[in-house]
Amino acid sequence: MSDVKIAVAGAGGRMGAAVIRAAQIAGASVHSAFDRHGSAAIGKDAGTLAGTDALGVAVVDDIATALAGADAIIDFTVPSASVMLARHAAEHGLIHICGTTGFTPGESDEIAAAARAGARIVKSGNFSLGVNLLAGLVRQAAKALPGFDIEILEMHHNRKVDAPSGTALLLGQAAAEGRAVALDDVSVRVRDGHTGPREPGTIGFATLRGGTVVGEHSVILAGDREMITLSHRADDRAIFANGAVRAALWAADKPAGLYDMADVLGLKD
Ligand code: NAP
Repeated sequence: MSDVKIAVAGAGGRMGAAVIRAAQIAGASVHSAFDRHGSAAIGKDAGTLAGTDALGVAVVDDIATALAGADAIIDFTVPSASVMLARHAAEHGLIHICGTTGFTPGESDEIAAAARAGARIVKSGNFSLGVNLLAGLVRQAAKALPGFDIEILEMHHNRKVDAPSGTALLLGQAAAEGRAVALDDVSVRVRDGHTGPREPGTIGFATLRGGTVVGEHSVILAGDREMITLSHRADDRAIFANGAVRAALWAADKPAGLYDMADVLGLKD
């Protein structure tokens, strides 16, 4: 068993449960589990809640109790909670694996500030190996095909609250890097009504929501009479949870700073 003691945030959520299962499979220690005050998960055993054997770890709503003695927080919750957890991580020198999506630019800045103030943060809109490899391919294709129009299409389950998905933005960022432009300057996140012709060089996003889809992303590069589609489909949340646990173990001997999943997977070497 790894000696990194993990505190699971949002333990009653879809990803929280997947993280508890992934930690057990990886032989990592679930030190504590917590959720929002008033959550139905409070008081339940974290293992039982995640559909595995009981762990003897009750879900609590007091963050100080949950983080006492922990080395790492694995956090798939909501942006306001993640900002607060990043601050805790900075104060106590903890590892913060941040998988939450939907941050405002101000909230992202606060998380970056926490990493400068002593937290070891791995933040990614997608913790899977496949999507992080795909991002590299998208960067390469965007660079090699400067005249092609780039559109990013994503579909998720009907409970998802933010759009475009963190993964769509991660892929858009990769495309923008390939073109050596800032994503904020070229992204078109919504289209409605009489939009006029497509402006060259923009990166468009389209969002679909429905059913129980875990996550589907396509990056379309449309040229003159030819089109390339690079796609990824997630069939199970376990791929994100496994990546998040791997990131927590990876960060154990790293200095404070802001990292992403490409660092963990060695894709920047
Ligand atoms: P979810 O099922 O709604 O889970 C979120 C959990 O966080 C819920 O149990 C919620 O409690 C809890 N929570 C809310 N406020 C909290 C607080 N202040 N302290 C502690 N826990 C709190 O959502 P999900 O599908 O697991 O997704 C969670 C986030 O991860 C989303 O932003 C999603 O986009 C993202 N995500 C990222 C990846 C990736 O690879 N980066 C993959 C999948 C999902 P209540 O339900 O009681 O409010």
